Amino acid sequence: MSLLTSGIPHSDDKFDAIVVGAGPSGCSCALYLANSGRKVLLLDKSSFPRAKVCGDAFSGKSIGIARELGILGEIPRLPHGIVRGLLMVAPNGKKVNVPFPNASGMEFAGYTVERQRVDYLFFQRAQNHKNITALQGFAVSGLERTPSGAVCGVSGTLTSNQGRKGMRFIAKVVVGADGAASTVGRLVVSKPHPKEHIYSAVRGYWSGISGLSGSIELYFIDGVLPGYLWIFPMANGMANVGLGILSSDLKGKHPVAILQEAVDRHPSIAPRFTNAKLEGKIGGWAIPNGSYKKANTGDGWVLVGDAASLVDPFSGEGVGNALSSGKYAALAINCALDGCKDGESLPSSALASYEASVARFLRKDMMNSYRLQRLSRHKFLLNLFIGKAADKPEVRQMLVDMLGSDKEKEKVVSPMFYLKLLLP
Ligand SMILES: Cc1cc2nc3c(=O)[nH]c(=O)nc-3n(C[C@H](O)[C@H](O)[C@H](O)COP(=O)(O)OP(=O)(O)OC[C@H]3O[C@@H](n4cnc5c(N)ncnc54)[C@H](O)[C@@H]3O)c2cc1C
Repeated sequence: MSLLTSGIPHSDDKFDAIVVGAGPSGCSCALYLANSGRKVLLLDKSSFPRAKVCGDAFSGKSIGIARELGILGEIPRLPHGIVRGLLMVAPNGKKVNVPFPNASGMEFAGYTVERQRVDYLFFQRAQNHKNITALQGFAVSGLERTPSGAVCGVSGTLTSNQGRKGMRFIAKVVVGADGAASTVGRLVVSKPHPKEHIYSAVRGYWSGISGLSGSIELYFIDGVLPGYLWIFPMANGMANVGLGILSSDLKGKHPVAILQEAVDRHPSIAPRFTNAKLEGKIGGWAIPNGSYKKANTGDGWVLVGDAASLVDPFSGEGVGNALSSGKYAALAINCALDGCKDGESLPSSALASYEASVARFLRKDMMNSYRLQRLSRHKFLLNLFIGKAADKPEVRQMLVDMLGSDKEKEKVVSPMFYLKLLLP
């Protein structure tokens, strides 16, 4: 197993910040901090490139942060698909296909690209940064605390060719970027994430699906609402096919069985799979929705990305908010570090600007998406909206506007909008 990336750090080494988890949120936070001259220890229990279950859509906010970090230009060199449109299919089978607004500075909306590959780009950028010490194969299992209870470091186990070794590291702040099953989150926040705010999501890769285009496809089907089944065209004629269903709606069913049943029998979906082949296994993971609000800072700690429950509750997109929250946390930490003496942890009061940035730039949009998610539980509203969008250019335009602007989304979640739709 390869684990050593920048030399094994010593427990006495001094770091400004320890970032636990080197996915999008962790790499973003580490890179923005390092670019400000801060000394960062970046830890991950896996060795990169590591697999990551995802729909592989990379668009919206992800594009902006990847550009800022100098990574965007490298994505087209990976096998990728280009997203230009969105196909929505109502529970009654009615379809509407609309152009997806272009991402800023681009001539299309985004990419589909395997997460394993795109995460590796971010990780390599972090690993090569002179201010970041990156250590793979290190699983964090505990937090170090000051006598007053503030977090001041982590403990865990390094697994290498030489075996396993317990180690601890100290810093002024610990960033939990360790995903949906966050160990740091569990150690600092006592309440578990409620099931009605988590999607159980699964995906597999199929070849040979007929009728793939430049559109990503969302199927709103019975038994999955307010979640949906997706077909995302990828490079080389492959497609990422999956679904997300609220964990509270599972009621003993398994999401893999629901996906397989839809692929085999759903009237709008199964005919597309007549000559299709599942390549590899179907994988699953949890999606912690931003509809659940919790504290993401405390004395000496910050949570970002999935650990902070920042996934869009309607679309299930989390990479953009993971990268953005990493950036906002880094900006807040960087300012706070100026007033922090050696041997001290950052107090939660000094980290308030991170919570404020999440509220200002991410929370409002997530709450609109949450309203949209709750409306999507009602089949008749989806049939009405998608049916009207299919028939009326002005409703189709509203849908396009909604995809391009958070402000427009507010109109679509208002009851007046649906009343107007009912009018002939
Ligand atoms: C099926 C599915 C489909 C999805 N589709 C999309 C999509 O198409 N587009 C989109 O934008 N989002 C999608 N998402 C959401 C997206 O995957 C997440 O929001 C995103 O990965 C969050 O990034 P992160 O950096 O916070 O966490 P992660 O990407 O999960 O990274 C966490 C890292 O922490 C490490 N780690 C965990 N525990 C420890 C520990 N104890 N010690 C050290 N390291 C640890 C892990 O090894 C990992 O590398 C999907 C999610 C699922 C499950």
